[in-house]
Amino acid sequence: MTYPAASSDRPAAFSGANRVIDLRSDTVTRPSQGMYDAIASAAVGDDVYGDDPTVNALEAKAADLMGKEAAVLFASGTQSNLAAVMAHCGRGEEFIIGTGYHIVTYEAMGTAVLGSVAAYSIPTNDVGEIPLDAIKGAVKLPDPHFPVTRLLSLENTHNGMPLSMDYMAKATAVVREAGLNTHLDGARVMNAAVALGVQPAEVGAYFDTVSVCLSKGLGSPVGSVLVGSADLIAKARRIRKMLGGAMRQAGVIAACGLYALENNIDRLAEDHLHASQLADGLAGLNVDGLDVVACNTNMVFVDLSDALVARLPSALLERGVQISGRSSRIRLVAHLDVSADDVDKVVSAFGDACSA
Ligand SMILES: *Cc1c(COP(=O)(O)O)cnc(C)c1O
Repeated sequence: MTYPAASSDRPAAFSGANRVIDLRSDTVTRPSQGMYDAIASAAVGDDVYGDDPTVNALEAKAADLMGKEAAVLFASGTQSNLAAVMAHCGRGEEFIIGTGYHIVTYEAMGTAVLGSVAAYSIPTNDVGEIPLDAIKGAVKLPDPHFPVTRLLSLENTHNGMPLSMDYMAKATAVVREAGLNTHLDGARVMNAAVALGVQPAEVGAYFDTVSVCLSKGLGSPVGSVLVGSADLIAKARRIRKMLGGAMRQAGVIAACGLYALENNIDRLAEDHLHASQLADGLAGLNVDGLDVVACNTNMVFVDLSDALVARLPSALLERGVQISGRSSRIRLVAHLDVSADDVDKVVSAFGDACSA
């Protein structure tokens, strides 16, 4: 089978003169040639019958990486998080979460709508942590006035910031004492592990379940995996069916995820390096109205003046660089399809666009 010829591991369709360097998110990556080859040679079967060897291999690999008994493949991180919260919490029960964490901000509040589970959200500090005393204070006493608090849900990385091992240890210990379970929205947990210099399983050890996105920095086109104990994953698998998320020959997707877990974890360090090169380059332009405010793992945050907000996105696009537009704080994300050369091009495009 042939695919767009590539000089390296990049399909040719995504290189060349008209190529746009897309910094909106690490979700914009396209499958590499190696990933396409993995799809082409994937053995498949009906995963609802448990017959897809590639899905089974991906789930086993993800569980092993995160130090858990079992895993289940989902179509998205949203679905994986929802199934996890529903596996931990019953109707009318609640979970503790940080205000601004993805589950309560960007997932259409599915936990309330579909799970009848209440989110008790607590403002996070400037490194993305829910303060320990606030967590402790949020666990309800056994009293008919209150919902039953079942779960603490953390997010790592949050806005690219890795939660420290020390914080995860303390926060999960606080709630475990009170009999709660713990979930990690680890959409970018591999970025966190790489940045913290630990094995993914060392992060996984703090949590009963972890949701890991394959389609962010890891470069898969689709998919997330939820890992945990055999019991919790069996519950999540039933909920996935209920949500309409059980898939048939899902090996074509799992092949990408497996390829990503085998090839694209350690290289996240390059994305982190590229993000810091980008942050340094932009700061070095010394443009009025453009302030680099943070660089966290693969993300750079930049504050723009009103004048720049209005014209920068289109001026950059004319120069082959795409950013998320129309906000005074922009997020620029490094990923698999952004090279060190691209970072240089982006910095000069910003320089040109700002002075034009
Ligand atoms: C992307 C993301 C998710 C899941 O998003 P999907 O688009 O549904 O895969 C969950 N949590 C965080 C922190 C994310 O960044």
